[in-house]
Amino acid sequence: MADQIEAYIDANRERFIEELKELMRIPSVSAQAEHDSDTQACAEWLVAHFKALGLEARLVDKGGKPIVYAAAKGKSSRRVVIYGHYDVQPEDPVDQWKTPPFEPTIRDGILYGRGATDDKGQSFTHIKAVESLLKTEGELPCEVIFLLEGEEECGGEALPRYVKEARDELKPDVLIISDSTMYDENTPAITYGLRGIVISEFTVKGPDQDVHSGAYGGAIANPAMVLAQMLSTCVAPDGKILIPHFYDDVAPLEQWESESIAKLGFDDQAFVGELNVPRPHGEPGQSTLERIWNRPTFEINGIFGGYTGGGSKTIVPASA
Ligand SMILES: [Zn+2]
Repeated sequence: MADQIEAYIDANRERFIEELKELMRIPSVSAQAEHDSDTQACAEWLVAHFKALGLEARLVDKGGKPIVYAAAKGKSSRRVVIYGHYDVQPEDPVDQWKTPPFEPTIRDGILYGRGATDDKGQSFTHIKAVESLLKTEGELPCEVIFLLEGEEECGGEALPRYVKEARDELKPDVLIISDSTMYDENTPAITYGLRGIVISEFTVKGPDQDVHSGAYGGAIANPAMVLAQMLSTCVAPDGKILIPHFYDDVAPLEQWESESIAKLGFDDQAFVGELNVPRPHGEPGQSTLERIWNRPTFEINGIFGGYTGGGSKTIVPASA
């Protein structure tokens, strides 16, 4: 049985990859309104694909970008719901792509393109798993429902709205989230926790307009400097986050969790080598994987203020 499934996958591997590439060519960038028709086209592509595989599939409109719903009954009435998303992040900075972001390309056995690992690649593996089961066994072992949303990258409300409304008909025995990673090529992972996110933007305001730093500098506070000073109070130079109560609700790792992490033998040197940074950095007393997997972080995603053009300009900025 398993042999038959593997044989089917091997026999169809090239087609699976070509289909994934077709999906990745659709620039479904949900955060940018100019891509709305692409996002819609992507959702429709998926519905057609599911239908061709024999699933019942449709778009669910709950405002915002459509949700792709696809379902198939199985031998048992137990239900697996598979979550994923078909939207992708913007492709910027475009000049740092070695090959075009929406022209998927295989280099050294790795498929590069926007969405390859987030989340078209992963959700497609689940679609192809269902196909392989259906084509070899004729029937799924249990009921499967796919919910692929188009607003994961732009924080939309359509999916939460739908899930609340359709709670009873969707209620899963098992929920699989396709939107996560494997530890490495040969080590599968069961992701049972992820860090959440809180985003804030701060603006420090100074004089009504940019003023000459020769005429006013040193006599009024510089918003860019104040911003830097504010931010520097949030994290100690050794990496510990200083915001009061920041770590209060973080559950410590269970012993089996620490042991499992240690057993992976994570290579810090390879990690820093890959990123071309001199050394790992973060909260003292934690390993790199503990910092990434179990501890919260405080990051600056962007910082700007004052003159950012070429050369220099002698100002105290109005804001930062
Ligand atoms: Zn994702």
